[in-house]
Amino acid sequence: MTSIDIPQIGHLIGGETVLGDLREIRDPGHLDDTVAQVAVGSASDVDRAVRAAHAAFDGWRRTSPAERAKLILAAADVVAGAGADLAPLLVREHGGVLWEAQTDFGLGTGVLQHTASLVEDFSRPVQYDDEQSFISVERVPRGVVAAIVPWNMPVVLTMMKLAPALATGNTLVLKPSPFAPAALTILLTRMADLLPPGVLNVVHGEGDVGAALTSHPLVRKVGFTGGIATARKVIESTAGTIKNVTLELGGNDPAIVLDDVDIDAALDRMLKGVYTRTGQICFAVKRIYVPRGLYQRFADAFCDRVNQYVVGHGLDPEVSFGPLNNEAQYKKVTDLIDRTRNSAATLLTLGSKRDADTWDNGYYVLPHVVRDVAHEAPISCEEQFGPIVPLIAYDNEQQALDWANDGEYGLGASVWTTDPQRGLALARQIEAGSTFINTHSFESLDLRMPFGGVKQSGIGREFGTAGLSEYVEEHAIRHLK
Ligand code: NAD
Repeated sequence: MTSIDIPQIGHLIGGETVLGDLREIRDPGHLDDTVAQVAVGSASDVDRAVRAAHAAFDGWRRTSPAERAKLILAAADVVAGAGADLAPLLVREHGGVLWEAQTDFGLGTGVLQHTASLVEDFSRPVQYDDEQSFISVERVPRGVVAAIVPWNMPVVLTMMKLAPALATGNTLVLKPSPFAPAALTILLTRMADLLPPGVLNVVHGEGDVGAALTSHPLVRKVGFTGGIATARKVIESTAGTIKNVTLELGGNDPAIVLDDVDIDAALDRMLKGVYTRTGQICFAVKRIYVPRGLYQRFADAFCDRVNQYVVGHGLDPEVSFGPLNNEAQYKKVTDLIDRTRNSAATLLTLGSKRDADTWDNGYYVLPHVVRDVAHEAPISCEEQFGPIVPLIAYDNEQQALDWANDGEYGLGASVWTTDPQRGLALARQIEAGSTFINTHSFESLDLRMPFGGVKQSGIGREFGTAGLSEYVEEHAIRHLK
């Protein structure tokens, strides 16, 4: 590859691209390849971006919800059109396969369109007028929003913050993940061209830049998606200026298989939720509880299917899933695999390598299944965020439910049954932000459903009117007659 193919990705501040010092990012599926050069941010870049967003706020908040909805819809067209040229770049920086990157753009488009369709009704004041009073409860923007996103699905995770923030009249400073900043920033620069300068800003960097953003006194709201340990730092750094936060964090999603399940039909759907994006999805299926009487049959069928997977570079159409995203993630997952190998459980390494010669030049890991494993084992209790899943036998439904609810995570969950009423009754007892029946993957998402976690999986909700509510204050006005 020649240097001409390597884009230089700057910050976006007040409508201008700002380059400064650059660092290289590498393809996690081909570590010899430089994918892009990306600006290295600092606290002073953050300050300039926040001030640009603050300066743009007064004008932007005065536009009508209808005008903002129109611009959000135009931005949705940009996202829909960008998948064609930017999805391959996204594959090369985050390691997913092409359809996963295209799904990211597709979901991002949907979030913008759905949000635009809601914002006019949502923004209408609720008013009461009687002999004594005139009351108007108005939903007003908070001000400058800081959005911080991870690398796994950067487009849709950004749009889940950008759409409700901008639609309700806030302005935005986004910090992408240093592990997938390029395609997202090119996309946001195209979107920013539709908007007044300063409404949408981007600053690159790592934790120090994130912390400068979350502690900045002019930032009134933080929308964060990432790990629980980082979220604790975000809460600490927002404490000094009492900011509102929305946190979308990790999960350890249980799937409870009931004894009336149709195994083949369930596996058709369930497997999409286990190994897609190499298991690096917050609401991936991360532990599977199977009735003891069905265990052997279910586990054999599960492993037969997983054994057909082919692992390799995401731009190769023959590949089922790509490498892990980065070295730290690779070490974490391979360490968990090693610990599981040395435990009492049965670890199966399945699937095949697409290209054994280049295997060591990327963060590749074959799919693994863990059989005969206890609910208390580390592989059942920790968020693996990789292509490995435990199959845990249970003795009765109450035990499966207790195990599903055990622990500090509560993002997604699923129940697998041929009896919808039985599924609903069990779903209602699960501690999670979303519980799906006979589905648990990207195809489970419906924008009418709020998305978020309970317990330490998060605070607040994204999507729909619940997502819009996170970005407004309710201003109550009363005239006593
Ligand atoms: P991470 O927490 O390491 O990083 C997330 C973002 O926070 C990055 O942009 C990072 O640079 C930034 N950051 C790091 N330190 C910071 C600090 N001190 N202050 C402010 N920002 C800081 O997470 P990751 O490894 O990028 O992503 C994986 C995690 O994200 C997993 O736990 C996964 O479950 C979670 N996730 C959750 C959702 C959800 O919607 N619930 C979606 C995707 C991923």
